[in-house]
Amino acid sequence: MSWFYALFGQINILLKALFHLLYPDLCVHCKRELTPKHPYLCYTCTMRLKLIKWQEKAAYNIVYQSIDSNQIIYICALYKFEESAPIQTLLHELKYRFNRNLGLYYGKELGSQYALEKSNDPIEILVPVPIHARKKFDRGYNQSELLAKGISTVTGIPISTKVLKKIKNTKTQTQLNKKERLLNTKGSFRVSEDIMKYKAIAIVDDVVTTGATINAICEVLMEKNINLQITIFSLALAQKE
Ligand SMILES: [Zn+2]
Repeated sequence: MSWFYALFGQINILLKALFHLLYPDLCVHCKRELTPKHPYLCYTCTMRLKLIKWQEKAAYNIVYQSIDSNQIIYICALYKFEESAPIQTLLHELKYRFNRNLGLYYGKELGSQYALEKSNDPIEILVPVPIHARKKFDRGYNQSELLAKGISTVTGIPISTKVLKKIKNTKTQTQLNKKERLLNTKGSFRVSEDIMKYKAIAIVDDVVTTGATINAICEVLMEKNINLQITIFSLALAQKE
């Protein structure tokens, strides 16, 4: 039967090539045709991503402007958020278009960046920022979990979706200002008792904007475990005016 599988494999490759010819993979941002080296954004759009250099002071300032918690010991973020730029399209694809492979791909990029500099750091679990069960049901997935899976593939750090739950189905925050976001997120997360057995964890988010979500999470985590050390993984950081 092996000849059958070999033949089937060849037909499969041929069909894929034909499909690609008819419907080539296009850049999610500018719709130009892609090359295998740049699977989601084309070369030009990739070059437009503003890379936040590892531990660069500006990146820390962006986060510390918006997050109060002094439990945050490390921040791993890849790109600077800019409106109408390729990074906004990437985040949109990740959040609303169920682009699963894109989430895994950029999660791996985050994990590789982290492994380069901090491979000896003792993070025990990755905690993706949860979404409400209802929202997850409607959307079919949680984008932060996809990123966490990519990070986990590279770093080997296990993921826990049990220690932190979203108990309030909050409004989408896109149109809210900082004060409204703080009110919106208040009381919306619940932490399980399991958190007490950890010393160091990492929260995984797609984008940190005002820091309201991360603040709310740090608050509930520290209520249960005051000495917890927290690292933040985020695909993008937004600089607030
Ligand atoms: Zn492009």
